[in-house]
Amino acid sequence: MSGCRLMRAITVSEFGAASVLTLSSGVTVPQPGHAQVLIRVHACGVNPVETYIRSGTYARRPALPYTPGSDVAGVVDAVGEGVTALKTGDRVFTTATESGGYAEFAVAAEDCVHKLPAALDFPQGASVGIPYFTAYRALVHKARAKAGETILVHGASGGVGVAACQLSRALGLRVFGTAGTPEGMKLVLDSGAHRAFNHREDGYTDKIMEATEGRGVDVIVEMLSNVNLSRDLQMLTYGGRVTVVGSRGPVEINPRDTMAKESCIMGVALFFATPEEKKECAALLYAGMEAGWLRPVVGSQYPLHEAAQSHRDIIESPGAAGKIVLTM
Ligand code: NAP
Repeated sequence: MSGCRLMRAITVSEFGAASVLTLSSGVTVPQPGHAQVLIRVHACGVNPVETYIRSGTYARRPALPYTPGSDVAGVVDAVGEGVTALKTGDRVFTTATESGGYAEFAVAAEDCVHKLPAALDFPQGASVGIPYFTAYRALVHKARAKAGETILVHGASGGVGVAACQLSRALGLRVFGTAGTPEGMKLVLDSGAHRAFNHREDGYTDKIMEATEGRGVDVIVEMLSNVNLSRDLQMLTYGGRVTVVGSRGPVEINPRDTMAKESCIMGVALFFATPEEKKECAALLYAGMEAGWLRPVVGSQYPLHEAAQSHRDIIESPGAAGKIVLTM
């Protein structure tokens, strides 16, 4: 009976610095309820939002204690009553969990659990959830990017950025991406970008404009809006759209820059995706996994007991190189 089993899990009993992520070894393995699945977790993606929630500064604060983590990959261990699409032994990945993914087992609602094709290993499966669903939301549901348009993925070397490059290329866009190191720029090119630029280099936005023959880009997926939004507005072509995916503070812009191009600034929050939108996105991403263009790039991997270090590194260490993942 799985109800008697114990597992290792990270628990957060107070909001604060990364050190509040504590490894507990006597946590009861959760039971799947109606329309839920119990997953034996092999890997769990670490996303920046989990650091904001843990610090207690985010709009959404879970009840304490809690276990972080939404993007797990693993094997179905048991299914609850009413589950029809999944069975014990299936390889899966999730876009949300009920009990928390930084753990050896996690319960997730059936509609947040997706089959993981054999071509992807578990760390790659744990890199799909938030990054690829966010990239899809920004590109398709918000910017309504079309084949033949030019896109700038501003911050393309991390989890969402790699996803946005691969997806944009598959959708037929001309893809520019930025990174802060030569290694990051190589990764951006390997992820499907036609051109890579270094966002730590003086004058790199001039080079981006030159690459468009001065016309500007149609769409920008922006990972650090508080630094880049003003310049983004100047890099857009007529009718261009900036999708605000990431921002870590306020920024001053000149609204006139939007008049000059009749451009749009649009916020992106994966949280607001409807069940229909999630279904559509999951279908396209599954097709990408089968066709081979969707291949998450896993950067650093940390064992579960080093979850605190993974939180420090995702925020403090410059030079992203793909997705940060915990392995169990
Ligand atoms: P990540 O893996 O840590 O990647 C961060 C990216 O930002 C890296 O490519 C990094 O490049 C880049 N960056 C650093 N300095 C930059 C600059 N000056 N200009 C442009 N890019 C810069 O994080 P992630 O998971 O991809 O998430 C990216 C952001 O989106 C985070 O702020 C996250 O909170 C947010 N997000 C929002 C949603 C939503 O629903 N709105 C969903 C998911 C994520 P280098 O390290 O190479 O310099």
